[in-house]
Amino acid sequence: MGPVRLTRPEKKAALMQSIWATYLLVPLLWLVLAALKTLGYELDLGRESLYMGSALVAAAAANYCLARDWLVDQLFYYLYSAALSLIVAAAIYQTGNMVSPFVWIGLIIVIYDVIAYSPVKGISEALFFVAVIWVAALAELQKLIPGHPLLPELQTVANFKYVMLMLISNTLLFGVITYAVVYISERLRRERIKALLSAQENARAYRATVSVMEDLESAHGQLKDQIKELDQSRRETLRLLHDVQQAKAAADQQSAETAKLYEQLKSVDKMKTEFLSLISHELRTPITPILGYSSVFLGEQYGSLPPEYKKGAAIIKKESEHLMAIINSIIDVARLERGISLELTKEPVSLSRILAELVAAMMPQFEERQLKVGIDLPPDFPTVMADADKLRRLLTNLLGNALNFTPKGGSVVVRGAQKGDHLELSVSDSGIGIARENLEKIFGKFYQVDSSYTRQVGGVGLGLAIAKEIVEAHGGKIWAESEGLGHGTTIKIILPIGV
Ligand code: ADP
Repeated sequence: MGPVRLTRPEKKAALMQSIWATYLLVPLLWLVLAALKTLGYELDLGRESLYMGSALVAAAAANYCLARDWLVDQLFYYLYSAALSLIVAAAIYQTGNMVSPFVWIGLIIVIYDVIAYSPVKGISEALFFVAVIWVAALAELQKLIPGHPLLPELQTVANFKYVMLMLISNTLLFGVITYAVVYISERLRRERIKALLSAQENARAYRATVSVMEDLESAHGQLKDQIKELDQSRRETLRLLHDVQQAKAAADQQSAETAKLYEQLKSVDKMKTEFLSLISHELRTPITPILGYSSVFLGEQYGSLPPEYKKGAAIIKKESEHLMAIINSIIDVARLERGISLELTKEPVSLSRILAELVAAMMPQFEERQLKVGIDLPPDFPTVMADADKLRRLLTNLLGNALNFTPKGGSVVVRGAQKGDHLELSVSDSGIGIARENLEKIFGKFYQVDSSYTRQVGGVGLGLAIAKEIVEAHGGKIWAESEGLGHGTTIKIILPIGV
């Protein structure tokens, strides 16, 4: 810890005190001198007043400088102190050395400066005063300066011992008092520093506590806000919960009703499916002989027929076949709806042969619509393990659609290729095409693209749904491709060859 340095205002305050002390001391001293004189001391009050006046003038000058803010600087401060010390020292000499009351003024100045400024200043002043006393006394003894008029005995050698005694006792007085004051003031200064430090510490701790308190207060405020928000959101949540509960109750009620309706619908639907299946099977029975006899008539097995009858028989046969196909489709759908999967009877099947037979059988219809038909299969197109009847139905449906949805003069091509352990088959036509958004939908049950062409063609929208079921039952895939309306359609199939 370095020495405690006074700040400018502190220095100014200390100086002010010192000057006030001078103002008070000098008149006080004058009063003391006056009292001593009345008590019989031989004093020249006129001369003493002169010195005291000088001290007062010095104090007034210092005060003026202080008012102008001059004396605060170190140099002026020391100049002031030196001037005051000189005046006092001169007074000590002039008033008669050690017996002079000015010795006590010197001591007071030393004490004051040690306490108010620094031990160094006080000690140096003490040394200065002692030196002045010694020099003055010795100079008087040696008659180097005129002796004090009031103390003629000092000039005699007989008093030499007495003078020396006084000088030593004065020196001891200055020494002891200066030492005591320096010691006490140092102790006090240390205590002050300690107190200052602990005060600083306390202040720091206080500031830290205050800042923690402020933080706590702001955190408390924030917490209060948050609690308020939480409370609000809790209330909102409760309200929402209540609404949700109400909505849930309503939904529960509705879903119970829906479930009831659904059960009713399901049983009605089941009845409908059973009815459909029953009716279809029943319908198939009478159609079989109609088909058989119309074929017999057409074959003229019971004798030749006039052309009108033959034409009638052909119409009966064609429409019966159509009816049979519809009934078969309905039976399939009824089966599908009851969740019964297709039963496959697998055997090695030659798709080239089935295709050739189908195309041959449908040739009159293709010709009637002036459509070119082509089958483009490699010669080594392999047989597949599959259900022949089902594949025949699949291809019938695809060729039938190509036939129905390709305007006159168009073309239909069936292509095939082997790709590893599966076959790729496609039926392409140059017909009306399918919009992109319908490419998947057409495989749904009873789905028909809404167009005047479809309405003209008829059908029930089951052909592709059945085709898909057949392909998937064989572990294959089926999808449609089209460049858009008017740009033809290709139905593609992938079928595993199987073993
Ligand atoms: P449908 O028995 O009515 O032909 P499908 O399931 O076979 O039923 O076909 C569904 C619909 O898909 C058809 O109504 C038709 O609109 C469309 N479609 C099927 N094949 C073709 C095709 N080759 N070209 C254009 N549209 C087709």
